[in-house]
Amino acid sequence: MPSRRRFLVGGAAALAATPALGGPAQAAVGRPTWAVREAPGSPDEESTDPELVLRRLIQGNDRWVSGQLTHPHQTVARRMAVAAGQHPIATVFSCIDSRVPPEIVFDLGVGDLFVVRTAAQTNDGLIQGAVEYGAEEAVTPLVVVMGHQRCGAVTFAVDALNNGTEVPAKFKDVVEALRPAYEAALPLPGDQVENTVRAQIRLTVAQLRVDPVLAPLISEHRMRVVGAYYSLDTGCVEFALP
Ligand SMILES: [Zn+2]
Repeated sequence: MPSRRRFLVGGAAALAATPALGGPAQAAVGRPTWAVREAPGSPDEESTDPELVLRRLIQGNDRWVSGQLTHPHQTVARRMAVAAGQHPIATVFSCIDSRVPPEIVFDLGVGDLFVVRTAAQTNDGLIQGAVEYGAEEAVTPLVVVMGHQRCGAVTFAVDALNNGTEVPAKFKDVVEALRPAYEAALPLPGDQVENTVRAQIRLTVAQLRVDPVLAPLISEHRMRVVGAYYSLDTGCVEFALP
């Protein structure tokens, strides 16, 4: 069940220490406005507070896990309302895997998320620029770096690096981008691919937290960058906090 989720090592205590997130998911059930809000002329308080946005994502993922989807913001009215302007609540940087579509796993809709996706959420200058854009221009208060269970790109890279095999040129950049996570995970016990996935999440979060555009927003508490791990088996997203 969602209640047993969802924070990577060290996360639960951090969550409990955060008043805005400390309550159960149903604490926000009495706030129906966001689900039907169709005219985002300007961001409201709920969509500019990193803690409230994080809670919104958790609630949406709870619905995905339990099958109680509400499909918010997926109407023609919503499409028309955001045609002239957008105020997405979060930037999600995730893998291209077809089984991990951010709007669906967080039960959100049109205009709710900036989504940047690459193989195993590998980062480079162009990608970092896209994340900066989402964070600064649209002022999304939350950036989620989301890896996932049994990531095919990570599996490929781990296999190639373990065996020293020559990879096709088109995959070299991905493998090299994953090398730091591979090396960080090498000494760890357990499943090497899963450890590398989680290392890749951690390293990418660390990279973004010192990004020259994002760091000032983070220090002003206008933004959070958090890691997340998606389980293909359960649909549950574990967040790594703080
Ligand atoms: Zn993947």
